[in-house]
Amino acid sequence: MSLALNDPQGRQFRYLRLSVTDVCNYRCAYCLPQGYKKCQTSPELTLSEIARLLRAFSVLSFKKLRLTGGEPTLRDDLPEIIREASSSGFQVGLTTNGYRLAQKVRRLKESGLSLLNVSLDSMSPQRFKMVTGKDEFTNLQRDLDEALALGFDRIKINTVLLKGLNDDEFPQFLEYVKQRPITLRFIELMPTEQNKEFFHQHHTRSDLFVKELKSLGWKENSKEANSGPATEYSHEEFLGKIGFISPYAENFCAQCNRLRVSARGDLRLCLFGKGEVSLRDYLQDDESLKELVGFIQNTLHLKPVSHSLHEGDYGDMRTLSTYGG
Ligand code: SAM
Repeated sequence: MSLALNDPQGRQFRYLRLSVTDVCNYRCAYCLPQGYKKCQTSPELTLSEIARLLRAFSVLSFKKLRLTGGEPTLRDDLPEIIREASSSGFQVGLTTNGYRLAQKVRRLKESGLSLLNVSLDSMSPQRFKMVTGKDEFTNLQRDLDEALALGFDRIKINTVLLKGLNDDEFPQFLEYVKQRPITLRFIELMPTEQNKEFFHQHHTRSDLFVKELKSLGWKENSKEANSGPATEYSHEEFLGKIGFISPYAENFCAQCNRLRVSARGDLRLCLFGKGEVSLRDYLQDDESLKELVGFIQNTLHLKPVSHSLHEGDYGDMRTLSTYGG
């Protein structure tokens, strides 16, 4: 049985982002400035629940899975989750803050991880600490180079653009990818219930940086079909690439190719939408697979055509750590 999940806007959903835990060990100023506080009472999805969830999305022709959180590497069974996903045919990616990366990354790669995204918001140790609450800049730089040497299919850096905190570091970020085959993507800061004031102070649009990049001879790469909302640029003198994720850009949502599931099995159709639908009841036994697939298909019509960030409406999003960004 192989089905597909497409909507009337012509969007094809083949990419699942699964949060495997809400817990995070960082205190990023724009995400969890007070650190993680336990507020959920139900437990995280177990490995068998995740396996059943993946089976359903595989039937729906999903090919790519990104594991995120919270901080996904805090889950002890992450290698088993990756092995399960990889053996079910998914190309498996991980989004991590990179804490103690070198200790874990070889085992994760051996389990089937092929795409690695690491968050890095500053090229200065002091500012890194100011933004994340952790004095880990130097360790992360070293660990990233070790990860590079392992030969992942792709390593990306996620950098949230922050006015007054890292927007003057553009040259250093470019220098970082000069000799490294890494794609560094600037993500525009997104508003949430928990970061209203921070957003007001530090949000900046990516347009100016794109302009500067182009003036330095960087060229926009043509987009592969269904490649998602990031726009990427290359330069012949640089091994790495630069990308931008600009949720306020025109047609941003037209490129949407993903669905999200929280660490408790709630399907979130739009990051900045309202509410979610629980899939958990369908994950309790192998016999519910067909029903689960049907339920996901029938729920897709609730996915909005677009978010409403331009109207200042971020839905009921409290913090991106619940859905993994
Ligand atoms: N702990 C992991 C990490 O740090 O990459 C995964 C979870 S984190 C929520 C995923 C991504 O979301 C990170 O790259 C983070 O910088 C980004 N993020 C979190 N809150 C954000 C916000 N308000 N605006 C833009 N990006 C955000």
